[in-house]
Amino acid sequence: MILEKAKKIIYLNAGHFDDPGTLHVEDPGAKHLTFVELTETMKIRDALLPRLKAAGFEVFAVPDDLNLRRSIDWTNSKAKKLDDGLALDIHLNYISDKTQRGTEAFYGTSDTTKRIGEILCEKVSVSLNTKNRHSKPDTMSNPGRLGWIREINCWSVLIEICFLTNTEDMTALHAENGYDKVAIAITEALADVFGITLKKDNSCEAEKETITKLNEENVSLKKIINQIMEYLSSFLKP
Ligand SMILES: [Zn+2]
Repeated sequence: MILEKAKKIIYLNAGHFDDPGTLHVEDPGAKHLTFVELTETMKIRDALLPRLKAAGFEVFAVPDDLNLRRSIDWTNSKAKKLDDGLALDIHLNYISDKTQRGTEAFYGTSDTTKRIGEILCEKVSVSLNTKNRHSKPDTMSNPGRLGWIREINCWSVLIEICFLTNTEDMTALHAENGYDKVAIAITEALADVFGITLKKDNSCEAEKETITKLNEENVSLKKIINQIMEYLSSFLKP
């Protein structure tokens, strides 16, 4: 467990934005071949949100039509203090060297968020069978400073799931259950961070347990009915 005192709240931002109501007010992020970063981050967010809720987190998804500035303000309107939860910004990486692949995360100045980034990188890179590029300070990012890291009130990290420009990374993400594998990996990582024990994700097991329980209840109910019948029949005897 890394965040012992923090509220179990996750603020999820599918990196980049699109305001369909306003022409040319958009930033869909990186594009490569037919891939668009925003489309990918939204699909990952959509797979992740129900899994985080099932794990017991309260989850707030930043609306997709907000730009970065407004996304930060929206999150800060809910997260006032450091321990008001964790804000996760989801991105895909882009680079001209198309052989580069892997998962990386960015953090600010604290060792705490560095460790959160490490857990995320470890789990997500394994889920996509790609390289672990580890947790890096935001001073090593392209802009040299990330608003999501520096200006959010609560704990915050930014994850670059994989490379939009790498064929193997995108094949893994687009494979059957690819988005779901990433969602499970992030959920497991955040459960570790908050010290949450995940329930066995097997609905059949849960159903089996319920049926066994019902059968046991039936047996004890039958016993009670038999006892009542015996008691009643004692009155009926001549
Ligand atoms: Zn991005």
